Amino acid sequence: MSPDRPRARRIGVMGGTFDPIHNGHLVAASEVAHRFSLDEVIFVPTGRPWQKIGEQETVSPPEDRYLMTVIATASNPQFSVSRVDIDRDGDTYTVDTLRDLRALLPDAQLYFITGADALESILSWQDWEELFGLARFVGVSRPGYELDATHLAHHLEAMPSDTLHLLEIPALAISSTECRTRASLGRPVWYLVPDGVVQYIAKRKLYRAPRASSPGVS
Ligand code: ATP
Ligand code: MG
Repeated sequence: MSPDRPRARRIGVMGGTFDPIHNGHLVAASEVAHRFSLDEVIFVPTGRPWQKIGEQETVSPPEDRYLMTVIATASNPQFSVSRVDIDRDGDTYTVDTLRDLRALLPDAQLYFITGADALESILSWQDWEELFGLARFVGVSRPGYELDATHLAHHLEAMPSDTLHLLEIPALAISSTECRTRASLGRPVWYLVPDGVVQYIAKRKLYRAPRASSPGVS
């Protein structure tokens, strides 16, 4: 590469159900953006998340999850939101997300950001060999989960050393499941999710109906 040639744009990809997006997601993206000098982080709400197919009836409509993600990221000039997954029919697989973004951003270096819990299941992801060719992966710490890639070590042996990075980030013990449960019980979600998302949840009356995981909710 000539010394004058600008470096490839570095783009983070933060996939998630975002039902709702919360401050744990935002801190993860912000921290990885800083540590890897990313130019941008693209949040990609899933269409139909295949890991949650059994819970499909409890996943909020894609447009609500998309709009909450837009609201949560609007104030950060480095953050944007993609519709590639919600506009694709069928179940969402990370390999499709990365293929689509690769096609849209052929010259960029992609960094897929994933929490320690999702990293644990990476081998069950479809076409994981191809995944590592499409993006670098950044596994971030998450309270309650061990940040450990030893289960991937065998597969990573043949890959470049920068295929997977593990990163400790500020610990926020927040999950969307907990936010949904709190909202359904009438407990506050202020400061767990951005203010605009609190207001969107109230306006759209999300998470009001009792869920199977929240017995006894009135
Ligand atoms: P749910 O409880 O519905 O599964 P969630 O809080 O796990 O929601 P997801 O949308 O499933 O949120 O997660 C999207 C990505 O963000 C995943 O890679 C997940 O590991 C990561 N993530 C979620 N919450 C945190 C957190 N508090 N700290 C670090 N990473 C997180
Ligand atoms: Mg999750």
